[in-house]
Amino acid sequence: MDSDKNKLTFKDNIVSLLTAIAIGFGVCLVAGVITALYVAVMHTPTGFTGLYIFVFLTGVFSFALFFKRDKHSAILDRSLKVVLIFWLICSIWAGYVVFTVIYNETTSNTTAAKKLSSDQYLKQIGNYSKEYCTRTEFYPIDLNFVASIYYIQQNASKIQYFSGYLSDLNLIKNCLDISYANSEAEMSGANGLFFFSSPESGKNHFKILISPSYKKSDMILNSYLLAHEITHAEQFIHTDIYNRVNSECTTMTDEATCKWLIPKTHELLGIKDCIGNEAEAWQNQGFFLVTTPGDSLGKLVVYSNYYKYDPQVAQAENLFYFTGKVVNACIGNDKEACTRQNFRNFVSSIPAYQKQCGLTK
Ligand SMILES: [Zn+2]
Repeated sequence: MDSDKNKLTFKDNIVSLLTAIAIGFGVCLVAGVITALYVAVMHTPTGFTGLYIFVFLTGVFSFALFFKRDKHSAILDRSLKVVLIFWLICSIWAGYVVFTVIYNETTSNTTAAKKLSSDQYLKQIGNYSKEYCTRTEFYPIDLNFVASIYYIQQNASKIQYFSGYLSDLNLIKNCLDISYANSEAEMSGANGLFFFSSPESGKNHFKILISPSYKKSDMILNSYLLAHEITHAEQFIHTDIYNRVNSECTTMTDEATCKWLIPKTHELLGIKDCIGNEAEAWQNQGFFLVTTPGDSLGKLVVYSNYYKYDPQVAQAENLFYFTGKVVNACIGNDKEACTRQNFRNFVSSIPAYQKQCGLTK
């Protein structure tokens, strides 16, 4: 071997170098093309890293095989030493490029192809609700309504059942634009109205109309009614966030993650159908009545004694007793599902909701 090596001429060295460059460049080129194709198809920086390691190891492996096969050839032996150096430089360079791309992909806010991990994305979804109300004070609404909002907050804060409801209310209270309707005709038979579409509802603005017949009502009756309409405002936000996740998920994270993230978001945000939304609003109204301190019921009862035929008080009383019955009937493991089903049945039995939710023509 020594005598062979000593005989290497200048030309031999050039051949060694060109062979080395050809092999090294070939491997780099193949790695580059495969990596570029992979990234174009899969859009995943994580897969990108895995692929780079795979290509690197394949290169090392082919190099080892090549070395073993040709170790008796002096020219190739010399070539392979250069190949090794070339391969190392190429790998370091390719590694640098790969990790720069990953770094840019995960930190840049400007690219539409920004990819987030499922944890990062879930965290981001949690922050979406904060975008719905950036106002720092109430709209110039009737002071009765301001008092009612404070009353709902104060009572909800004492009851575990209302924890999610309360945190949403704290976020959006300054964006509730509540007013009495000019006439009953505007109310189409309802006591309160919330609009699930723009321009009445959107960021920083949630319009709620209250029947003018409630002008004579006290704060508790107003709160009772608002507890229902505020539920709809919260549902509007949840649905809007869910729609957003549904449409942008694959541009924010990879498809596999979206496959479980979208149904998971649906569940976490409690997205419901039309009857389900009304059932939840009535359930909150009912729970508001049965869980607020005794004075609210006492007041209602006194109220109803004075206004025996007041339909608003009669309705509140009926809901109070209905909710009590449901709570008692649903004690046990399936408490939540049972309560929900009872309120769904309640809502489904009301012709106005059958019409509103498309159950009848
Ligand atoms: Zn409703």
